[in-house]
Amino acid sequence: MSVAGRVVLDPARELLRRDLAALDELIGADPQRAAESALALAERAVALGDADAAVLARVGQAEAVQRGGDSAGAAHLLTQLRAQHDELGPEAAVRVAWTLARVFTDLGDRPTALEHALDAAGGCGDDLPRRLRTRVFVKVADLLDELGAHEDSRAWYGRAEQLAVGDGQLHLLVVNNRAYCELERGDVEAARREMALLLELSDRYDRPLNANSLDTVARIHLLCGELVPAEAAARAAVETSAAMDAKNADDGPVCLLTLAVVLRVRGEAEAAARVLDEARAACAQEGFGTVRSQILAEQAEVFAALGDYRAAFETHKAFHAADRELLSEQREAQARARQAVFEIDVARQEAARYREEARRDPLTGLRNRLFVDERLPELLAESRRGGRVAGAVLLDLDHFKAVNDTYSHEAGDEVLRRLARILTDAVDGRPGPESFAARLGGEEFLLVVTGGHDGCAAELAERVRRTVEQADWSAVTPGRGITVSAGVATLATDGDKSSLLAVADERLYAAKAAGRNRVCAG
Ligand code: GH3
Ligand code: MG
Ligand code: MG
Repeated sequence: MSVAGRVVLDPARELLRRDLAALDELIGADPQRAAESALALAERAVALGDADAAVLARVGQAEAVQRGGDSAGAAHLLTQLRAQHDELGPEAAVRVAWTLARVFTDLGDRPTALEHALDAAGGCGDDLPRRLRTRVFVKVADLLDELGAHEDSRAWYGRAEQLAVGDGQLHLLVVNNRAYCELERGDVEAARREMALLLELSDRYDRPLNANSLDTVARIHLLCGELVPAEAAARAAVETSAAMDAKNADDGPVCLLTLAVVLRVRGEAEAAARVLDEARAACAQEGFGTVRSQILAEQAEVFAALGDYRAAFETHKAFHAADRELLSEQREAQARARQAVFEIDVARQEAARYREEARRDPLTGLRNRLFVDERLPELLAESRRGGRVAGAVLLDLDHFKAVNDTYSHEAGDEVLRRLARILTDAVDGRPGPESFAARLGGEEFLLVVTGGHDGCAAELAERVRRTVEQADWSAVTPGRGITVSAGVATLATDGDKSSLLAVADERLYAAKAAGRNRVCAG
């Protein structure tokens, strides 16, 4: 349905699209519930016949699973999705690439993550949702920074920020991540500047900082040696993450870890130890390897601060063991994910090759009838819209049965192959958007030409007829020349594929009736 140029969806589909948009929010707030909700949305979409929405819901499910801490599960869902659809819509393709970038970040493989993130950014046309584009640009910036490309990273943050202005949540996200990068680099001045901006934006948009941003603020205060505001921010971060505002599954333990560090640095080692116990309990589930080993490292520091050097030493050793194990787990998971993505890419290439092969004639390598049936109607419609000429030439070998009977079927096949080369050469040299040669079956061929002037198809047909007549066939059919007859038709303003081919066929018949080896163009 379309009203005044606007596409109108039926109410059930419209509601589905709205629920899909809301899913984005839920993924951030409660990944577990979001994964279930995404699955239900995908089923609804399938029932409504909205294939695009179904795919988007499944990508949402993968993102929720990734945020829930199960990177391998997310990679599996994404590769499945890519295997089932060799062509994803533009938004789905960007979301898949972006989520793969997140998966590979989780797995500690930043170069591969960056490849996927840049893939996603490359697909970010202006018509995609602003939220999505901003987050993709932020992801590219984060990864560039982590890979040491500081300048490039700032340029991408700048791009993201431009898109984000006016949207409090997005704007805060961009500045938070940039602030975190400065913090990691230990650039006190820059970190302080970004922190001030973070607080100012929170005011300006009247939007409290989320757990992530509060944690960043706490860490920056810590970097600057401002322990009182650091503790206040760290406590606020812990409270906020407990209130289910966590963006990622490991936000809770991460905030607790920051609070423990602040308390230890403030000289409250016992309180720090208690907070660390909480942090460890908070990542009791599988996954979260990185935070888990960071907690151990901090635990060792706390034992040292308490004067228990033996426990500090033991914990330090445990940290190193956990870190090594984490690395090898990550390496294994990386290998598995890379293999899965690779296999899907190979499978897609194979599927594309099969599709292409199914549209070619095996004997001559020319396009076949299936290709003509699929492509010609589109091509004619495009030509009509663009005000271009489109013509068709039907060709048939003359007395071909006699060639087979006199020489051999193999000789006949060779004639077909040589004719195919002549036809290919004839259309290859043509300018214009698309022209092709096809074998419709037996010894009947079709040339389609678009662009050029009115008489193009007729001129081409005559050129082909002459080339065939003048070609040296002595090696194939000694003592006998080969000729073709052709009928030419040009697309009428109200014509379509079948009327075009019907006219060409009538004229081919006329050419045969008039004695063969000739072109009839009306
Ligand atoms: P006309 O000039 O009226 O077109 O006569 P013709 O003999 O070319 O036409 P007819 O339709 O009587 O015979 C077509 C022949 O084409 C019959 C068939 O053996 C041959 N043919 C069809 N497909 C192939 C093929 O793939 N290879 C070979 N060698 N011959 C084929
Ligand atoms: Mg024939
Ligand atoms: Mg025939």
